[in-house]
Amino acid sequence: MKENYNNEVMYYTFPDFEQFDFITHAFSSREGGVSEGYYQSMNLGVKTADSKENIRKNYELFTEAIGIKLENVVIANLNHGNNVRVVTKKDAGCGILKPFGFVDVDALVTNEPNLAITVTCADCVPVFFVDPVKKAIGIAHSGWKGTALEISAKVVEKMQEEYGSNPEDIYAGVGPCIGMCCYEVSRDVYEEYLEFDYLDNAWYFEKDNDKFDLDLSRIIFGTLAYSGILPEHISISGLCTSCNNHVLFSHRAQKGKRGTMAGMIMLKE
Ligand SMILES: [Zn+2]
Repeated sequence: MKENYNNEVMYYTFPDFEQFDFITHAFSSREGGVSEGYYQSMNLGVKTADSKENIRKNYELFTEAIGIKLENVVIANLNHGNNVRVVTKKDAGCGILKPFGFVDVDALVTNEPNLAITVTCADCVPVFFVDPVKKAIGIAHSGWKGTALEISAKVVEKMQEEYGSNPEDIYAGVGPCIGMCCYEVSRDVYEEYLEFDYLDNAWYFEKDNDKFDLDLSRIIFGTLAYSGILPEHISISGLCTSCNNHVLFSHRAQKGKRGTMAGMIMLKE
């Protein structure tokens, strides 16, 4: 992904999304916020135990840096499920300027301008969606559970139902997340994905300690392609949050004591 700087704030964008001048999108890094200690510094985790003032200030700094108004932000109320919410104007500010108006929502879609749909992640996978034909967008939080529940496929289905999107028109971006290099899991987690016969065999390594190294990005790529998105329309960040813990929060690398990044995407007016 491309690294962008605005004052102290560093954020990532997908080069392939830059052809779409009708959207703004970004994934945050740790840089440019006001939080301290293991939240240093751009902690956008609204459910972390960091001070409310710091989290609010970080959202102000981040949204200003990427050209989004804070009142337009709508944050998903994550639960590691696969529910997709259709976001409308009345949701504006949810999760940051007003309480969440919904529960158990790991993905958001909209076709209304000026709604910055947002998911928070720290190892889990942020997945971005743009349909340039129907002018609709989506974003998903896909950890190992959401990936096993094929949340990315659920987003594509919802965009088809709600906006008449053709999967072949949709572009998807798989953001920074824990890489195969750092994601050892037990057999029961590995077994969650065995039913996906659309996957090749490159999504895991079985090791001699009966553990598995898992490649969530590759599994999600498989799900996106199986949903009808063209492989050449799928961007993969490949940035490992754990390997790059100096600039990205990682639940594993920091043993749970960490802040949270945010992915945002918005249709411009
Ligand atoms: Zn790694």
